Amino acid sequence: MAYGGRWHGKDVYFGMHYDLHAHADDTELGARTDPSDLVESLGLMGPQWVQTDCKGHAGYTSWFSQVPEASVSPGVVNDALADWREATRRMGVPLHCHYSGIWDDAAAAKHPEWAVQPAPGAEQEGPRHKMCPRSPYLDELMIPQMIELIDRYRVDGFWVDGDLWGVEPCYCDRCVAAFREQTGMEEPPASPGDPNWVAWIDFTRESYYDYVVRYCNAVHEHSSHALVCSNWLQTFRDPGEPKVPTDWISGDWWHGLDALRCDARFIATRGKPWDLMLWGFWKASSHQDKTMPWTFSSVTRLKQQAAMILSQGGNVQIYEHPPQLRDGRLVPWRMRRLGEVGTFCLERQALCQGTESVPQIVVLHSEAHAHSQPVTNLFWGYDVNGVEGAVFALLENAYSVDIMDEWALSDSLERYPIVVAPEQDQLSDAMVSQLRDYVRSGGRLMVTGAGAWDRFGGEFLGAESVRVEEEGTWFVPAAEGTAELYSPMWRMLRPTTGRTVAFLGELPLRDEGLTAYPAAVVNDVGQGGVVYVPYDLFHFFRASGYGLVRAWIGDCVEALDADMDIAVQGPASVDVVLRRKGDRLLINLINTMPAVEGHGPSACTGELPLVGPVAVTLPAHAAPREVVAAFEGGELTWAFDAEEGLLKIALSGVRLHEVVVVRI
Ligand SMILES: [Zn+2]
Repeated sequence: MAYGGRWHGKDVYFGMHYDLHAHADDTELGARTDPSDLVESLGLMGPQWVQTDCKGHAGYTSWFSQVPEASVSPGVVNDALADWREATRRMGVPLHCHYSGIWDDAAAAKHPEWAVQPAPGAEQEGPRHKMCPRSPYLDELMIPQMIELIDRYRVDGFWVDGDLWGVEPCYCDRCVAAFREQTGMEEPPASPGDPNWVAWIDFTRESYYDYVVRYCNAVHEHSSHALVCSNWLQTFRDPGEPKVPTDWISGDWWHGLDALRCDARFIATRGKPWDLMLWGFWKASSHQDKTMPWTFSSVTRLKQQAAMILSQGGNVQIYEHPPQLRDGRLVPWRMRRLGEVGTFCLERQALCQGTESVPQIVVLHSEAHAHSQPVTNLFWGYDVNGVEGAVFALLENAYSVDIMDEWALSDSLERYPIVVAPEQDQLSDAMVSQLRDYVRSGGRLMVTGAGAWDRFGGEFLGAESVRVEEEGTWFVPAAEGTAELYSPMWRMLRPTTGRTVAFLGELPLRDEGLTAYPAAVVNDVGQGGVVYVPYDLFHFFRASGYGLVRAWIGDCVEALDADMDIAVQGPASVDVVLRRKGDRLLINLINTMPAVEGHGPSACTGELPLVGPVAVTLPAHAAPREVVAAFEGGELTWAFDAEEGLLKIALSGVRLHEVVVVRI
């Protein structure tokens, strides 16, 4: 059993993160952090936990660390951390430290031998930033500072930044010796083209995990109350059994709704307390563009992002980092805005916290497939476009969608009417076998990608393979027209026991220029069925977002003829999240209109058009005791059809985030 984590309690639901990344040129750190001022500023936002600055990527502390290896910023003029501690004590809320782990410029400058060593023969470009997980850094600097923070300030937790996504393969003698011992290979490979690269990255990942385990254990052994989180560990881009004993899961994100759609869904399956951190500010261009200042987010935009998290049962925190103010002052108008988001979250707490998914479709995000990729970064490197494309397309077809890795799905498979395995050629043998059994006993499976035929076999998929073609575009019928699709690989099939859902076409006409090759084949297997789409359908939807492709994906799902209890009809711009709490069905509806940030006026003004209507049909043995739209006051009507045993609900529209509550 993986460790289930700990949290401060149900009443700690909405939080604030503040950091400065103190550096060598600072001159006024802590100058304006009087506890009474902090209490007043923080009170405008009302966070139920607070994370404040301790040590950023530059490696300088913003407190007077007495650890011998510490690099204290020369700009610390007052003990800001003591002030934050006093303010949060008066407010009665937990205080966490923002602490950069793997990334520490100051430690690398002081101890180059602690830093990640490049591959033999590779040039070290510029100064080093990242720590070797086997170096003395952990025992001589990081853990002693965590203990110092607990002992001196009684901090309640650590949010360790610059960790998973900062990890780099290290070729120091310690790491190379451990690699030899663990794998029997003489030398680690120097480049991703080497066939042993995946083994080297696996080793790098495990080395990082071991380092996190060591600081978790050190904190847990020293303190009975302090909690530990490693930023982005055990999230969407780190699938697999969550075996590292952090207390909760969190990640900070500035990319907006689409990324949150996946991260919230995935983290919700990890079996630990979790939050996602919204950035309170955003940029209309790339993160690195110095000509474009960060602007403070609209309240609407932050609420919309928060709804993605809340609807999956997570906690929300918001990152505040006022530009130019290095003295610790907070900005009242900005704090007031964040307070409005907090009110929005707390209004929803009773209907969002502690809920369970009502299973409809689960998208498989296989750790075996992810870890087969020769990545160079443990966070950014993976191609997750197929999974994302599947999630987006299915949500936009008004299905409630969950995401699970093999670890989570293997225990939950039978609960789902439909499983989608998008373009993953390297599923584990155990998962393939389990999915076959799932279908035989009545499950419905959608498999995509030319390579999946080799994994599942022609007999199971109901089609022979004629040939594989590289590159190219073909037409498929969709809605009242045809969609032109691109894929790097196409498998041309000849159905055996399977039925053709539609044929690939050479022309945009629906009834001319059709080939003999299916665009999808559906096959009955045992009590269930499988639909096989022999090309990269979901990668293409991820790249294009085309409405006709979305419609074709909807047709493929319908070809499975799955028995879905609850049917929702609504526009593509409403995400449906079906949850349950006790005897209440909770139909979350989220308006996703300005999903792409920085484009179009709505991203700037934060205005959202009303979207709808939404219709829901669900089985009911009796008239409902309660059907209400909890938050937005849209027009709601319902009718109970005793003969059909159906409850039919209609809602006029969704402004931002509505929850329709149904009690039968
Ligand atoms: Zn090393």
